[in-house]
Amino acid sequence: MGIEEENQAQQEDTTEPITFKTFLEEYPTGTLQNVSEFCEWKNEYSQSVLRRCKPTLRLYCKQCDGTRNFEGEWEYGGSAADVRDDFLIYTCRDCGKYTKHFCLFSVALPDQKNGKVLKIGEYPSLHIKLPTNLSKLLGDNYSNFINGLRCERQGLGIGAYSYYRRVVENQKNHLLEEILKVSKKLSAKKEMIQTIEKAILETQFSKAINMVKESLPESLLVGGHNPFKLLHKPLSIGIHDKTDEKCLEMAHNIRMVLIDLAERIKLALSEQRELKSAVSSLLQFKTENKKDKEDKNGTEDAVQVSP
Ligand SMILES: [Zn+2]
Repeated sequence: MGIEEENQAQQEDTTEPITFKTFLEEYPTGTLQNVSEFCEWKNEYSQSVLRRCKPTLRLYCKQCDGTRNFEGEWEYGGSAADVRDDFLIYTCRDCGKYTKHFCLFSVALPDQKNGKVLKIGEYPSLHIKLPTNLSKLLGDNYSNFINGLRCERQGLGIGAYSYYRRVVENQKNHLLEEILKVSKKLSAKKEMIQTIEKAILETQFSKAINMVKESLPESLLVGGHNPFKLLHKPLSIGIHDKTDEKCLEMAHNIRMVLIDLAERIKLALSEQRELKSAVSSLLQFKTENKKDKEDKNGTEDAVQVSP
């Protein structure tokens, strides 16, 4: 990667606040983050009080064995008037038994809407659902991915980033081959297929990513964006001068894109299989129908010719 490219990547690197809900649901322990929808004015006993929010979360419930809505309560009432560490305790709305505890250090920002929050701890730890085809997609590098996940859960940003980066760099060709397979099955444009094939042959990682970042089938877009375009920025930034928090944020983003991409590949292939079986069943129906008609006509003919 050239110096110019790295400088450009650094200039573009601005941290947008994420919602408090996303922060609680998805971000690992040790993350310090600017969050939106953090506090709101409430009317209590004819007085206006600024309270920390407690958004409804979608979390994994072990009791119900699935993702459920959880409602939260601040242990000390959630006043946003001061800087403090506090527990935010969530309970599953379905079973009313399973709980999840967050320990947070937080402060409301002067706009009285956003906040700065540090996730000190959470119990049980972050539940990350991995797609069943992820190990196949990542091949020999699946163990590196799991090590990255371990680091991420413990808030070790540089470690998590390094593992995930290695996964993507080592698996570049395999990821592109899977994408090529999907593109061919989806009858993608010839130019698109040729670009992916060229990117597989390209030995320089950032060049290969650059080649495919504009051309991928729509069903593989992550949140409407090309996953390689999303990966390009965090993967092209040198981490030597980045803080552990910044690396953790980038690691989180790389992991989210990889998981989503695996899910999309799985979905695209299964939809294609379903579509294929629907088409063949329709064709079979058509043939049987035609055959029935012919048989019927044949019988009628036979009836007509018979004395
Ligand atoms: Zn439950």
